[in-house]
Amino acid sequence: MAAQETVEHKYVYDFAEGNKDLKDLLGGKGANLAEMTNLGLPVPPGFTITTEACKAYLTTGREPDGLAGQIEAHLESLEREMGRRLGDPDDPLLVSVRSGAKFSMPGMMETVLNVGLNDRSVVGLSAQAGGNDRFAWDSYRRLIQMFGKTVCEVPGEEFEHALDEAKRAKGTKNDLDLDADDLRGLVDAYKQIFAKHTGREFPQEPREQLDLAIRAVFESWNAERAVLYRRQERIPADLGTAVNVVSMVFGNLGPDSGTGVAFTRDPGSGAQGIYGDYLANAQGEDVVAGIRNTVPLQELEQLDKTSYDQLLGIMARLEEHYKDLCDIEFTIERGKLWMLQTRVGKRTAAAAFVIAGQLVDEGLIDLDEALHRVNGAQLAQLMFPRFQLDHDFQPVAKGIGASPGAASGKVVFTSARAVELAAEGESVILVRRETNPDDLNGMIAAKGILTSRGGKTSHAAVVARGMGKTCVSGADELEVNVPAKTFTVAGHTVGEGDVISIDGTTGKVYLGEVPVMPSEVVQYFEGSLDPEHIDNALVRAVHRIMTHADGARRLRVRTNADTGADAARARRFGAEGIGLCRTEHMFLGDRRELVERLILASGEREREDALAALLPLQRADFIEIFREMDGLPVTVRLIDPPLHEFLPPLEQLAVNVAVAQERGEDVAKEEALLAAVRRMHEENPMLGLRGVRLGLVIPGLFAMQVRAIAEAAVAVARDGGSACPEIMVPLVGAVQELETVRAEAEKIIAEVVGDSGVEVLIGTMIEVPRAALTAGQIAEAAEFFSFGTNDLTQMGWGFSRDDVEGAFFWRYLELGIFGISPFESIDADGVGRLVRIAAEEGRAARPGLKLGVCGEHGGDPDSVHFFHEVGLDYVSCSPFRVPVARLEAGRAAISTTGSDSR
Ligand code: PEP
Ligand code: MG
Repeated sequence: MAAQETVEHKYVYDFAEGNKDLKDLLGGKGANLAEMTNLGLPVPPGFTITTEACKAYLTTGREPDGLAGQIEAHLESLEREMGRRLGDPDDPLLVSVRSGAKFSMPGMMETVLNVGLNDRSVVGLSAQAGGNDRFAWDSYRRLIQMFGKTVCEVPGEEFEHALDEAKRAKGTKNDLDLDADDLRGLVDAYKQIFAKHTGREFPQEPREQLDLAIRAVFESWNAERAVLYRRQERIPADLGTAVNVVSMVFGNLGPDSGTGVAFTRDPGSGAQGIYGDYLANAQGEDVVAGIRNTVPLQELEQLDKTSYDQLLGIMARLEEHYKDLCDIEFTIERGKLWMLQTRVGKRTAAAAFVIAGQLVDEGLIDLDEALHRVNGAQLAQLMFPRFQLDHDFQPVAKGIGASPGAASGKVVFTSARAVELAAEGESVILVRRETNPDDLNGMIAAKGILTSRGGKTSHAAVVARGMGKTCVSGADELEVNVPAKTFTVAGHTVGEGDVISIDGTTGKVYLGEVPVMPSEVVQYFEGSLDPEHIDNALVRAVHRIMTHADGARRLRVRTNADTGADAARARRFGAEGIGLCRTEHMFLGDRRELVERLILASGEREREDALAALLPLQRADFIEIFREMDGLPVTVRLIDPPLHEFLPPLEQLAVNVAVAQERGEDVAKEEALLAAVRRMHEENPMLGLRGVRLGLVIPGLFAMQVRAIAEAAVAVARDGGSACPEIMVPLVGAVQELETVRAEAEKIIAEVVGDSGVEVLIGTMIEVPRAALTAGQIAEAAEFFSFGTNDLTQMGWGFSRDDVEGAFFWRYLELGIFGISPFESIDADGVGRLVRIAAEEGRAARPGLKLGVCGEHGGDPDSVHFFHEVGLDYVSCSPFRVPVARLEAGRAAISTTGSDSR
């Protein structure tokens, strides 16, 4: 039964049978070769072995049944089409065997060229090439070298040494000076190396060469570097690679041959016009090896105008067909152009916006598609400051751009030194081999973090991203010597206190201080660049696409802000209200003393006095915010954190009291404070006396805040403004908690508001799992819900939010337990399910219930798509992320397929 099923399975596709939408099965390269073949473009004939064949091979350790026969059949038809047989001694067909996975993994897997050459067909190849013996023997030695290294794991250096030896014997440094005899000798030497390492002769049978090469490509899927690359790029490990068997064409047959790569527009800036490089009389691998310098593609026009014109025509055709920037690889064999590869090309964030805008102008795509082609991560990148690199700055190393931004500062090697220097007002870059949780304080103090080891999910990378701090990880050219307080790179030794600059977007490291440029996109959002009147293609494209996103989105975007300044900035960035005004920050600084009085109050009178002193201060806070957000809703959350956060830490207080007592000073007040701190101490403060619990325990606290909010709204309304307050109760887990607060609040509001026309809504956060699960009951007492996904994640997973990211998330990411921190992007299956249940049951109980989210997830691109899909009314995020949320909300509205592919 099983055997029958596998026999029926189709594992091999002729190029004419595939198309660009079959990337899962044929890999990106195979699918696009098929597409170009079907467009009638000059693609060397060939076939693709599917990713399914690779997966079957990798699971069972042998080629699946039926594969060998299908390869045979496709090979025969290829031979018929080419009029040549694989490895025929007189007139050989040669093929290349190339990897090609669904997602591009440049250079990570294997390729073998010139398969089909052996001691006899090398002569036939020479005849095909018009008696060019040198070319034929050079091709043969390349096969043995690539085959030996890739298929049989012969150490590559041995071949390199033999080549160097041949050049030394000839008295030259240039490969091209070796003649046919030298290369024939080199083939002998290579064969000996091959036999020494493998215990067998170099295989002369062409079909055996082919089968072994295919197997080697399958196996290269699991090569260490490929596995690491996938992990970094978050490419699933189980996709497998396809294998493309393509008839060889040669760019090294003389001056009328050559090879090149090109982009249909500039992938850096998006500017129109072709960009490419060409190398005459060479194969693609020579370009990679940098043996000779390439020339700009435009020079091909002088060398071979016919091919150049044909190439330009093909590139235009590809752009029109793919409706996007394409990159290509091509070869010219004696004046005949061949297309070896195309794909929708990678581009920078800036180019993504610019090109999307251009394609709309050109009528190739509409604005919905343009919006689909960009994403919030790219927009966020464009909002970071950048290095101004128009001076003489050359990077000395390149690591992984682990957390974007641009940072310059003095090098330090320890966390303690980072903290010290930062306290003196210095900018520092913390340099480590890798970081661990003990480095946390240093990471907080530093402007940027640079490590010589570790990828995008290393401790340094994850923690830095969480903090929004610039980080370059895995810069492995750096030799870091922490005890000596130095690192060496590219011949330089850098010591503590020397200045370096790191670019967390590109991963580049520079010596000295590189000037930093503000982001033009931020200037545009801030209103200081007018897109209609400046000649800046990027700003114009961003403006156009953002405008379209705003028109398309259903989700509103609010901001989390608790000062007038933040509110004003967020409004310029497009916020349509405040979704979370945390009031706890308003009790810090000078006001701590009033909080202490409140906590230490020995009777009702003293407590009321403290609250009465706080009331006008709170009212002034709210007036400022309501004014900035004139006419827009402002959700004010009643005080949430445990009150002892406003008191001095226990240890410090205990020491102070002991010292003062020793000196015989009067410490009555300190003693009372210490007793209060002891009384209020909690083992798990996050799960203790906070949120609504505080409001129920400390009489008058919430009442004072409610009164301040209502009075502020009335004051603004009296001045002709419009305040729309929404009072939000934190940490509710049961409807009875909310009902109690609500009853008291309603009385105060009615009394204060009178006939001023001010309307005040009362709602709750949904951040305790029990609240989500009893949302139907809670909705009876709430006019709105705002999901506090930070606490909901903390309590849903049982992860202490202040501890776990530094403590062990890096390991969870490494093990793939999750692909991204659940505090960063909503865990749709678990925490997201709680959101979904609460949204549905809340709305069922109270149609029209207003639903929003104010946890960190409100500004995360993938999470925004999730909240759109669940049907929330708005997301709320930090001011800087408002544009990202607007863009993603627009993308979510036009897309049913979720966020863009890589
Ligand atoms: C939340 O829990 O998601 C939230 C917004 O509240 P905080 O982060 O202040 O606890
Ligand atoms: Mg919370």
